[in-house]
Amino acid sequence: MHEASLVSYLLDEVLNQLEKLDNEFNNNQIESIEVIIGSMANVEISAFEFAFEVLAPQKINPDAKLIIITKKAVVECYSCKNKYETDEWIAQCPVCGSFGGKVLNGDSIILKRIILKR
Ligand SMILES: [Zn+2]
Repeated sequence: MHEASLVSYLLDEVLNQLEKLDNEFNNNQIESIEVIIGSMANVEISAFEFAFEVLAPQKINPDAKLIIITKKAVVECYSCKNKYETDEWIAQCPVCGSFGGKVLNGDSIILKRIILKR
């Protein structure tokens, strides 16, 4: 399950970000973590959530919430250069009907923000 290694990497990144804060660092004060997952990031959302439930309590407070925002990928058509959103693995250009294109974004996982408890 490669989602487990992605979650592990995400949690390390969360801790890195918290260490950069000027005020007192406390990794037990996380309210929620928001992540954007692109439709072409090759992530199974339910597996990602499960991995978070298992791994998060080992590194941060167990009640920290995971908020996943899914985002459609943006693809540029190879033939006509039209840019369009899609959540299909084999995308079809709505303008010229060609299949496939260059993925401009939507193939990554982005740590959007960390909300701390007051
Ligand atoms: Zn096209």
